[in-house]
Amino acid sequence: MNPVTVITGGSRGIGAATARRLARAGHHIAFSYQRDRAAADTVLAELHATGTTAVAVPVDTRDPDQIATLFAAAADLGDLTGLVNNAGVTSPIGPFVDLDPTDLRHVVDVNLIGYILAAQQAARQMPAGGAIVNISSAAATLGSPGEYVHYAAVKAGTDALTIGLAKELAPRGIRVNAVAPGIIRTDIHTLSGQPDRPEQTAPRIPLGRPGEPDEIAAAITWLLGPDASYTTGTILRVSGGL
Ligand code: NAP
Repeated sequence: MNPVTVITGGSRGIGAATARRLARAGHHIAFSYQRDRAAADTVLAELHATGTTAVAVPVDTRDPDQIATLFAAAADLGDLTGLVNNAGVTSPIGPFVDLDPTDLRHVVDVNLIGYILAAQQAARQMPAGGAIVNISSAAATLGSPGEYVHYAAVKAGTDALTIGLAKELAPRGIRVNAVAPGIIRTDIHTLSGQPDRPEQTAPRIPLGRPGEPDEIAAAITWLLGPDASYTTGTILRVSGGL
């Protein structure tokens, strides 16, 4: 039986790299995208080229009904074995006092409410042996002063969600972990108003460079797989030392 994994935000960046890697490892995949249908179609074609079964579903993860649609599409592929809670946004970089309440709500709604709603669906549907990986951020412990403290606070919430859910679902044989990336080369930095942020920050990253999405996908794949069978409630930092 092939594993069946749901990935939120699989059309670009870390989610797309994870979809590609999991497809190569034999997973059947249901991934969501929000706006970028063309990007989703490109990823879908790459997944199909590996011979795996995959579907792309347009979903705003802030909406519980749309999340239910994504999990229904996954159920058509077989028993759910994995969730990668990944769809996330930032907002313009700047001082805390200038934070726009609309941007604040968007970050909370997508990165926290959306994660909780997707984890709830997974917890309802997943049999023993399943695994959830939440994508957090090194920001949760760095705090991101002068940049986006609200985003860092929400990512700390992701870590708390991971720890609590790991304990609650352990008796059912479901593992829950998080990956906390550092600065990774994706389009998310355009949203923060600094598309070249990965290059700009390289000098303060101990390994001297930003990470690549596939380096995060590798950690996610390990946490979903049998080699991580005794790992739950862990926040795995993949940040080049940041
Ligand atoms: P990205 O390249 O901007 O991709 C974001 C993905 O999320 C896209 O597939 C996007 O779909 C989807 N998405 C956004 N809002 C959504 C919504 N409301 N409903 C459903 N899907 C939505 O981002 P990324 O850099 O890969 O980030 C992935 C995760 O890693 C996020 O949780 C982020 O906070 C975290 N992270 C990233 C970094 C980094 O440096 N890149 C560092 C630490 C943590 P559409 O394009 O179709 O809208």
